[in-house]
Amino acid sequence: MECPRCHNRNVKRLYPLNGKYYCRQCIMFHRVWIEDTNTQHKQHHYPQKKIDYFLDFELSSAQKTISRQLVENYQHHRHSLVLAVCGSGKTEIVFELIQYALQKGDRVCFCIPRKELVKELYQRIQEAFLQVDIGVVYGGYMKNIEAQLMICTMHQLYRFEQSGFDLMIADEVDAFPFYGNEVLQELFMRCCNGQYVKLSATFVREDIKDEELLIMNRRYHGYDLPVPQMILCPRCLQHFVLKWLLFRLKKKAIVFVPLIEDVDRVVKQIQSHTSFKVKGVSSQHSHNQETLKELKDGQLDVIVSTSLLERGITIEDVQVIIYHGEHALFDRRTLIQMAGRVGRKISHPQGHVYILSSEHTSSIRQCIHTLKKLNKMNV
Ligand SMILES: [Zn+2]
Repeated sequence: MECPRCHNRNVKRLYPLNGKYYCRQCIMFHRVWIEDTNTQHKQHHYPQKKIDYFLDFELSSAQKTISRQLVENYQHHRHSLVLAVCGSGKTEIVFELIQYALQKGDRVCFCIPRKELVKELYQRIQEAFLQVDIGVVYGGYMKNIEAQLMICTMHQLYRFEQSGFDLMIADEVDAFPFYGNEVLQELFMRCCNGQYVKLSATFVREDIKDEELLIMNRRYHGYDLPVPQMILCPRCLQHFVLKWLLFRLKKKAIVFVPLIEDVDRVVKQIQSHTSFKVKGVSSQHSHNQETLKELKDGQLDVIVSTSLLERGITIEDVQVIIYHGEHALFDRRTLIQMAGRVGRKISHPQGHVYILSSEHTSSIRQCIHTLKKLNKMNV
C-alpha cells in the first residue's frame, strides 16, 4: 500500500476506516484514501478570449527579457525557475505569461507560502487584470473556487488535486513552509497538469531539477545589491557596537535578532542612554503592522525584529544591522533576505548592511560571496 499523494508506505501511518485505508502522514491536507488512485483530472473549460493587463510603470529591460522567456518556455512545455534578487520586481515578470495562458483558455494558479502575502498578491493582480474573475483561498477564506485564475497559499492546494492547473506559479519556494517540505512539494506537483514557474531570491545548485534557469541579478533600478559588512566582535560587546552604528548611521534601521526573547532585551539596550525611538516586532508582539507603519512614517528610528520581517517588506531609506550574526538560525538564505531589505526604492537605491558577529561563520561567508557574485554577473 502506498499513499498516492505523499508516497508514504509505512503501515503504522496508514489507518483503516470503513473498510478503506487512509494516510495519516499527509492528513493535514485533507484525507486521502489509498485506493484513491484516480488521478484523472476533472476537465475545466474556459473560453479563449483577449485579455489585457495594466501596469502603472514600465518593466525594466531585464524584467522584459525574463517575461518574454517565461512565455517562450511555456509555449515549449518547459518548466522555469527564476532566480530574481531581492528588490528586482519579480511578481510583475509573470504577468505576461498569465495573460498568455488565460487567453489560451488555460487554468492558472499563483501560490505563495503565507496568508498575508496572498492577500497582498490578490490585490496587486486584481488591479492589473481588471477584466478577469479571480479566485482566492487561504486559511479561513475562500472566494470563486472555480475561477480560471486562482491565488492561494500552498497549504490550500489540496483542494485542487482533482482539477489541477495548466500553469502553476509558486513564489518564495526557498521559504518556510515550502522549502524542504516533501508533502507540500508533492502536492504542488500533483496539481500541475502542465508547466510550472518557481520564483525565488536564493537558489542553490541542488534546487535546480529539470527546469530552465532564468536569472535576474539586477534590481529594477539597476544599482548593485547591498553587500553586508561584517564586524567581528565578541557577543558581550555587540550592544555597544550596535548603539555606535545607530549613532553613526543617523537613519532608520531594522535590527535583526535571532530569537523572540532577544527582541525586548535589545530594545531596552538601545533605549538606555540614547534618545532613539525604538520598538520590537515578532510573532509574539502585537501591533506589528502599526509598528512597521511608524517606522515608514518616520515616527520611529529603529525596529528590533526576528526574521519575521526578512521577506516581503519595503521601507524607504532603511539600513539593516544583524545582531548576533553568528547564531545558527542565521543561514545563508536568511542573511541574503535581510540584506535585501536595503536600497529597494529608486529614491534611495543604496544603503548599509552590517553583520555583528563573534565569528566568521560559513553562512556569513556564503552570503557575502553570493551577493558579490550576483553583482558581477552579466546576464
Ligand atoms: Zn499521504
